Amino acid sequence: MSKVILPNAGEKVIVSVDNTRGAMRTGPLAHLIPEVIDIVGVMNSGVRTDEDTFSLIVAGSPVPVRIIHLRNVIAINGKRIKAELKNVAPKSFTIKGSKGAKYTVLFDGKTWTCDCMAGKFGRGCKHVAEAQSR
Ligand SMILES: [Zn+2]
Repeated sequence: MSKVILPNAGEKVIVSVDNTRGAMRTGPLAHLIPEVIDIVGVMNSGVRTDEDTFSLIVAGSPVPVRIIHLRNVIAINGKRIKAELKNVAPKSFTIKGSKGAKYTVLFDGKTWTCDCMAGKFGRGCKHVAEAQSR
C-alpha cells in the first residue's frame, strides 16, 4: 500500500470514519445512525501495515482503545486522506436465512452484496452482517 501519513503517537486527533459498514446499519433504526462519525482521541500507534489499522485512545469511552481500519477513515483533523489499501481478496459466503433459504454474500474486496430481497435493493441485511462477523 502507499503510505498514509498519520499523526504521531500521543497527538490528539479527530478521526472521521465511514460508519456505513457497521453492523447496526442493518437494523430497523439504521436510518438514525450517522454515516460519518467523528472520533476524538489520541493516537496510540502508527499503522500496523499487516492489517492496515491503527489505534486511538478515546478518553471517557466504554471502549477506551479503538482499532480503526484505514479503509474506513475519511479524514483526520478535517483533512481528507485517501488510503490506498493492499488488495483484499474477494470472498464468497453462503448464509442460511431464518426460514432455511440460502443466500450468497459476496465481498469484491471493497463492497458487500447479498442476493436476498433487501440486498437486491441495496440495503444492508443480516446475511452481510453475519458474513462480516466470520
Ligand atoms: Zn441478505
